[in-house]
Amino acid sequence: MYAYHNNVDGEFDIGIIGGGASGIFSSIVAKDEKNLSVAIFESEDRILKKVLKTGNGKCNLTNKDLCLSNFQGNPILLKTVLSKCSQGLTLDIFKNLGIRVVFDENGKCFPASYQASSVVDSLRFGALKRGVKFYTETEIVKIEKKDDKFLLRADNRYNFLCSKVIFSTGGLAGLKKKEENFFRVLKDLGITINKPFPALVQLRLLESEPFKSMKGCKWECGVILNIDGNNTLVENGEILFTNYGISGNAILNISREAVKNLNENKKVKILIDLLPEMTDVEIKDELTFRIKKFGDYDLEFLFNGWINKRIGVIFLKSLGFNMNDKINILKEKDVKKIIDNIHSFAFTVTNHNGFLNAQVMAGGVSVEELDFETLQHKRIKDLYFAGEIVDVDGKSGGYNLQWAWSSGYVSALSAVKSF
Ligand SMILES: Cc1cc2nc3c(=O)[nH]c(=O)nc-3n(C[C@H](O)[C@H](O)[C@H](O)COP(=O)(O)OP(=O)(O)OC[C@H]3O[C@@H](n4cnc5c(N)ncnc54)[C@H](O)[C@@H]3O)c2cc1C
Repeated sequence: MYAYHNNVDGEFDIGIIGGGASGIFSSIVAKDEKNLSVAIFESEDRILKKVLKTGNGKCNLTNKDLCLSNFQGNPILLKTVLSKCSQGLTLDIFKNLGIRVVFDENGKCFPASYQASSVVDSLRFGALKRGVKFYTETEIVKIEKKDDKFLLRADNRYNFLCSKVIFSTGGLAGLKKKEENFFRVLKDLGITINKPFPALVQLRLLESEPFKSMKGCKWECGVILNIDGNNTLVENGEILFTNYGISGNAILNISREAVKNLNENKKVKILIDLLPEMTDVEIKDELTFRIKKFGDYDLEFLFNGWINKRIGVIFLKSLGFNMNDKINILKEKDVKKIIDNIHSFAFTVTNHNGFLNAQVMAGGVSVEELDFETLQHKRIKDLYFAGEIVDVDGKSGGYNLQWAWSSGYVSALSAVKSF
């Protein structure tokens, strides 16, 4: 419980709650549009802490392919917001902040320095030079309507009066915070929160399955998500076996659906297609060649130089083969068994690594309550939303930051235009 007082410690045209990607971006956009007074309230001791960690310290800030299928959320909202602040406009704004960009072969966009810290510095100096006021270690714990303004109450007992508020507190991903505390400010305002859950998160596998023997093995493959016996999603990319289960880009991208279905108590399996690029005929030809050529070698040599060796061995063992046998024991029925299973090496998903290890939060502020053109709350005038707090999330590849930039832009411009 906080003991509130009624002094006002600062008054601003626009108050931005959360000094992360969307909040700082929106402060810059707002200042460039009109010279209003803008303040950022940030609970941490520094702004943009999460951005520093993005893309393994390189900051994958957007993607060449912004096709809506890379996002989860209301498609009309996504289309509206992404068309108002496209990737081109985003990169122009970054160019003016001193960030040149490069794209990798998968369309991922990074600062040319490959340093997330350069994005942080550009945003931080960009906001400071424009006269944005920062209040760090200032967690907003209550929002009250005072006449036609908002009174923001902070945990350090400061109060701020703001004509417009942009709510950009991000999500629970990467945090230890309790859900009820994180959303209290919004719930007190009667705002609907769609049940949050971690996305882009590592998956835990059934302990009795042989994933631990492949710990540290990486493989480019296909991953099929199987829910209650039905294949529902396919993703190609890297997997990485770990001592708790499985990670890697392909796994992160199917994790949202996996977690959602685990939460609904469904049976979740992942089927690994070890050779997604090869047809059954091609695999049969290669196996036949190997049986002929290396018949007197131990069976563990079968996939040598073809599939990651340890993964190949564990796969064969899972089919009941004995590694002390020679390759030439394989008969036609064995070749068929290998081919029948090589596209669906199955593992049971039991859990996930939670919000603390997730890259993004699914769920959040219900978009039904927002005006798509302005990101203003339909019932609470002058309150805008941006970033991960909104019930929108994206795949791994720069989509979550693009949503943060685009929604930050739209909310800032809408807030400024109403002055
Ligand atoms: C390890 C990791 C790597 C990632 N890599 C990528 C990547 O390469 N590309 C990509 O697109 N996405 C990536 N993401 C996701 C991306 O970082 C987020 O989606 C994005 O930062 C969301 O922006 P935001 O402004 O909504 O929230 P944030 O950037 O999280 O900022 C929210 C800010 O609000 C503050 N805050 C919260 N509550 C309050 C309060 N009540 N009062 C005051 N301040 C408050 C928080 O301290 C925080 O600083 C990654 C995430 C993680 C965890």
